Amino acid sequence: MSYDIIITSDRTMMSNHHSNEFLGFLTTSPSMGLPEPIWMWLAAPKVKVDKIGRPIQAPYGLRKIEAALQNAGFKAAIIDPDHIYKHLNKARIVMMGHHDYFALGPPSCEWMMITGREPINARSFCKFMEKFTQAVRNRDIKIVIGGPAAWQWLYVPKLIEKYRVSTIIDGEADKIIAHITQKILNGDSVPKYIQVNLNDTPRLDEIPLIKYPSVNGLIEVMRGCPRGCRFCSVTLRPLRIYTFDMIERELKVNSLAGIRKGILHAEDLLLYGSNGVKPKPEPLIKLHKLVKKYYMSIAWSHVSLSTVKYGQENFKLISKLTEIIYDSGQSWIGVEVGIETGSVKLARRIMPMKTSPYSSETWPEVVEDAFAIMHEHRIIPAATIIIGLPGETEEDVLETIELMDKLKKYRSLIVPMFFVPMGTLKDKNWFKILNIKEVHEELLIKCFKHSIHWAEDILSKFYLKEPYRILLNILLKIVVNYFKFKSRSFLKHYENRF
Ligand code: SF4
Repeated sequence: MSYDIIITSDRTMMSNHHSNEFLGFLTTSPSMGLPEPIWMWLAAPKVKVDKIGRPIQAPYGLRKIEAALQNAGFKAAIIDPDHIYKHLNKARIVMMGHHDYFALGPPSCEWMMITGREPINARSFCKFMEKFTQAVRNRDIKIVIGGPAAWQWLYVPKLIEKYRVSTIIDGEADKIIAHITQKILNGDSVPKYIQVNLNDTPRLDEIPLIKYPSVNGLIEVMRGCPRGCRFCSVTLRPLRIYTFDMIERELKVNSLAGIRKGILHAEDLLLYGSNGVKPKPEPLIKLHKLVKKYYMSIAWSHVSLSTVKYGQENFKLISKLTEIIYDSGQSWIGVEVGIETGSVKLARRIMPMKTSPYSSETWPEVVEDAFAIMHEHRIIPAATIIIGLPGETEEDVLETIELMDKLKKYRSLIVPMFFVPMGTLKDKNWFKILNIKEVHEELLIKCFKHSIHWAEDILSKFYLKEPYRILLNILLKIVVNYFKFKSRSFLKHYENRF
């Protein structure tokens, strides 16, 4: 079988992370406490492929591009990075997608600043590109770059030349990819950089459905977000809610391939089926009943803390959903949430809608109440805090520290991230390690202590408990102990200063 268009990425993307998406986050840092090959194996093991090198599971975003191209009649397929070389004789275009090509996004850039070492996602991608560029040096193959980290190439213009990139597409490419592909195949000129505008952003009925299984059964149920946080690029896109029929068709693709665990992806999952910022129980209940018909166990990608609180206090929503989710196949659920700040002033200025339907003035209470609700329902959040938001003062950081103290008793991981200019704040300055003040150090230490404490609890009671996953559990414990050991010297240094 030969393909005109190959879609691929490096190993840190083309992996199912031992069927645990959370392990994939280890690709955002350099190896710590373990040799790099073991760290790499733990974070991103090779994925099984068929006879011609097509992975049995591939990243959802790449599956969408594959489906769009196949729907338009192109001979296109996702090929594992180890297997693309045998397809290069026939290929005319190689497309690539990534979450974080050069470790410039959070939290990779922060690990890079703290450790002074390059995270394995960037190392792995550049290693792959060096070999790939050699392999295509005498061939007329066009290289098209896309995905959520496409913007990073603008920071490394030399690599655009070195790696012979023809076109970079920044934004949702589902609707325009076939047109661009045809132009490239015709030999027409195509701009080096394409920013997908609102007219070219796909409507719901223009979003293709995946044809082959996605990594860890991830399926999108909603695209876009109505909350408008100023530091976020998602906010610039319109909201589209998948129909139950679309969701079921993608569930069937994964389920027929034997996938029994899956992630429901949305920027605020609890807004599925609502037409504002207040959750609606009926569509959410129907959604979860549908998904549980196909998956034994599920995770949520993201929820906002205000929907958790509002849903539970007004409709007992969290209790109702966890009653559907929890059964013999599942007793807890993981999710990402954004705290971002404990400062009322910054919440009002940077993310006024994130707190809706509550006022920004109540944001710290909203966060604490939502954490309490999640703790009670065995929902384990991985939460983010942003350090160095534009206009941040010492007072703002102290308010975040105060909030951290209140969250101490709730099972969660809290990850501090340095501000990266994105969304409507993309012309602002990056937060750099040189900008760190004592008050930031205090906040970083609180986050480390909190997360180490709860990581040990989660590893001993919830995560990777199946007997066949014991090795993964042990390796993660080694990593947590390494952090503990390292943070002790940091703590000592800090305690001597205050
Ligand atoms: S709630 Fe999340 S996805 Fe929505 S705009 Fe804010 S940061 Fe972005």
